[in-house]
Amino acid sequence: TQFLATRVLGAKPSATKEMTQLANQLKLVGRDIITLSQGEPDFPTPQHVRDAAKAAIDRNESRYTDVPGTLALREAVSRKFERDNGLRYTPEQIQVGCGAKQLLYNALQATINPGDEVVIPTPAWVSYPEMVLLAGGTPVIVRCNAGAGFKITPEQLEEAITPRTKWLMLNSPSNPSGAIYSAAELAALAVVLLRHPQVWIMADDIYEKIRYETTPFATPAAVTPELAARTLTINGVSKAYAMTGWRVGFGAGPKELIKAMNLVQSQSTSHTSSISQAAAIAALDGPMDFLPGFVEAFRRRRDQVVGDLCKIEGITCDLPPGAFYAFPGCMGLLGRRDPSGNLIASDTELALYLLRESGVAVVPGTAFELPGHFRVSYAAADDELKLATARIAAACARLQ
Ligand code: PLP
Repeated sequence: TQFLATRVLGAKPSATKEMTQLANQLKLVGRDIITLSQGEPDFPTPQHVRDAAKAAIDRNESRYTDVPGTLALREAVSRKFERDNGLRYTPEQIQVGCGAKQLLYNALQATINPGDEVVIPTPAWVSYPEMVLLAGGTPVIVRCNAGAGFKITPEQLEEAITPRTKWLMLNSPSNPSGAIYSAAELAALAVVLLRHPQVWIMADDIYEKIRYETTPFATPAAVTPELAARTLTINGVSKAYAMTGWRVGFGAGPKELIKAMNLVQSQSTSHTSSISQAAAIAALDGPMDFLPGFVEAFRRRRDQVVGDLCKIEGITCDLPPGAFYAFPGCMGLLGRRDPSGNLIASDTELALYLLRESGVAVVPGTAFELPGHFRVSYAAADDELKLATARIAAACARLQ
């Protein structure tokens, strides 16, 4: 008999973590490896946030907190949504979890019945389809290519929706493409969604603060208030405050949904660390003066990486407007042979070749459900990125 659960056997481990592990193994045997497969800012957490955590430790804030997060943090989250997004949520409509990731997970666990469908425009973050599978649902993948700015169109959305559709997962700015939905684009999608009241919207805004354009940030519940009653807006401190390891994310939506998500959380992690919660309050309420520096550094790196990748014959790459990833197309390189004569037939084989040959770890587009591409995280030091793109160029030039 089969010991492991079928729903687990049906899901894949995180491809980004796998690629990073492979890179780490090569590092251990002494290879000089540049890891561009992980998505996290390389900046330190701002000093005032670190101080708040230390103060919380010294106040002995070391007990269990409320399952949805401390009231003080949920009030800070409520202020954040009102200040930044014009969204009004009471603390009862807010859940804090172990990263935005747990919010997505809780929401799917709380709502998905077997056979329920979740529309996922791709390229999408590797975890979306797998979390849907783990919840017993069916991911409905809608491929959105570079020509469409990697964004789902109203026509594609209409076509993907069925009576079994429970959620549309939207991520803007997107991992891995960096695509950003404008208010007008969200409004056009809303026209479709208003026709299908069974469909809820999961808006993953985790990269809200990492944008290189001046147009104001748009999120579905604010663009179309009629949809707010079936929207879960998810955000967190990982990316904007360089706090990936602190594990604090939050979501806001209708009370009944949050209540069900609290039940899931109460029977799993209970809540994220009390110290991290205290730090997150300082982050959300504190000064944001460090942010323009973060974004400018990312912009400089983006311009360099995309500029260098574009010069490689066989690679195409547009400037991503947000997040800290480039998502170049590599179709032009597929079908060629490496110096040992091995055929490079897919983006996965290309990523493995680049790791082997150039010591640079990237993630194949297949992992994000859009083959023919790969993802480069440019949240790394400038020198390292320059070396990485030079090595990728040299390795690509050796393909015949
Ligand atoms: N959503 C997207 C699109 C992401 O890329 C990530 C992290 O890589 C997350 C959510 C999760 O962030 P965290 O759980 O650290 O808040």
